[in-house]
Amino acid sequence: MTMINLNSKMSGVETSIFAVMTKLAMDNNALNLSQGFPDFNPPEELLQLVNEKIHSGFNQYAPMPGVPALREKISEKVFELYGRKYNPVSEITITAGATQSLYTAITTVINKDDEVIIFEPAYDLYIPVVKACGGIPVPIQLELPDFTYNWNAVKEKISNKTKLIIVNSPHNPTGSILTQEDINALEEITRNTNIIIISDEVYEHIIFDGQKHNSLSSSKELSERSFVISSFGKTYHSTGWKVGYTLAPEKMTDEFRKMHQFITFAVNTPVQHAYADFMKNKAHYLALPEFYQSKRDLLLKNMKGSRFKFTPTKSTYFQLFDYSEISDLNDMEFCEWMVKKYKVAAIPLSPFMSSKSDYKLIRICFAKKDDVLIEGARRLRNI
Ligand code: PMP
Ligand code: GLN
Repeated sequence: MTMINLNSKMSGVETSIFAVMTKLAMDNNALNLSQGFPDFNPPEELLQLVNEKIHSGFNQYAPMPGVPALREKISEKVFELYGRKYNPVSEITITAGATQSLYTAITTVINKDDEVIIFEPAYDLYIPVVKACGGIPVPIQLELPDFTYNWNAVKEKISNKTKLIIVNSPHNPTGSILTQEDINALEEITRNTNIIIISDEVYEHIIFDGQKHNSLSSSKELSERSFVISSFGKTYHSTGWKVGYTLAPEKMTDEFRKMHQFITFAVNTPVQHAYADFMKNKAHYLALPEFYQSKRDLLLKNMKGSRFKFTPTKSTYFQLFDYSEISDLNDMEFCEWMVKKYKVAAIPLSPFMSSKSDYKLIRICFAKKDDVLIEGARRLRNI
C-alpha cells in the first residue's frame, strides 16, 4: 500500500467543538444545549415560500454574486438600520453561510506571513483559516469580567505586517458587544493604514435590554476597509440552509468574488428567492430581541438556586455559566462529566482560546423550546 504523506495544512486542528459536543449529546441521550442552533422550525410562511420557489422552477444556478432581489433587500435593510448604502450590484455577495463568507474573506486577503489580530475567546474558524493561508494569528484577550476590548493592547500589537483585524459583535461565545467608543477606537487605530477588517455580525439582530447593534457598516471610515458578514441562519431560525452574505466596497468585493466563484460559485437558489420575499416583512427580524430575551430570562429565572454563577448575556443566544463553585475539573472535562452524568451538553470555553486558558466557564445555547429550557435548567440546578 502506498503511504501518502499529506503534509497537512491543518496540523494541530481538531474536530470542531460544536461537532464534538453535539455527538456527545446524541451518544448520551442528553439535552443538546451546546451547538448554536434552534430546536424549532423557521416561520411557517418561510417554509411555504421555499416550497413555492422550488415548485416555480427556481432550481438551477443562481447568479454568481447572488439573487438580485435578495441583494436589493439586504441593501435596503442595512441602509435603514445602519445608514450605509451598499450597492446591491457591486458590493453585496451571497454566500453559503457566514462560514463561507469568513473563509472567502480571509483567503482573499491573507498571504504568507501577514499578521492578523484576533480577539479571544474567538470563534473557532478564524485562527485555523488564517494559518491555512500562511498568515500569523496575533491573539489579544478580551478583558474580564465583561470581555471588553483593550485598545492599548491592540496598538502595541500592530506592526507593519498587520494585514487584518477580525472583530465579532454580538460576540460568540460571551455575548459582549462593540460600543460606539470601540468603533471610534478602531477608526483611530486603522486610520492612514492599509489594515483590512472583517466584522462577523451574524447575531446582529439578537441583542437585549434595549441596546443597539453597532455595525461596522454604520461607520463611513470603517465600512471603506471592512468585510461586514452576516447570516440568515441566525435571523430566520434556519441554520441548516447555510445562506449568508458579505458587504464590502466595490474593489474589495471584486477580489472577494474572484475567490467566491471557485469556492461555491453560487448559493442555494430557491432559498435565496424565499428570503428575498420574506425580508419584505421587517417584523421578523425586528422582533428577535424580544423573542430571544424572553428565552434568556426564562432560562435564568429557572436557574435560581443553582450553584452556577452568571451575568445575563447582553446578546446572541448564548449564556455563560461559571462553575468554579461546583468543580475543579477543567472546562472540557466538566462538560464531558455533565453530559454523561446530568444529561446536558454545553460548550467549554477553552477551545475559543489559543492558550486553552480555563476560565471555568461553559456556554449554554438558549435557542430552544421553552419546555426544553425549563428541563435544562432543572438538570443544571441539580449539579
Ligand atoms: N460566526 C459566528 C460568530 C457564528 O457563531 C457562526 C455560527 N453560528 C458563524 C459565523 C457561521 O454562520 P453560518 O452558520 O451562517 O455559516
Ligand atoms: N456557530 C455555532 C455555535 O457557535 C455552530 C456552528 C457550527 O457548528 N460550525 O455553536
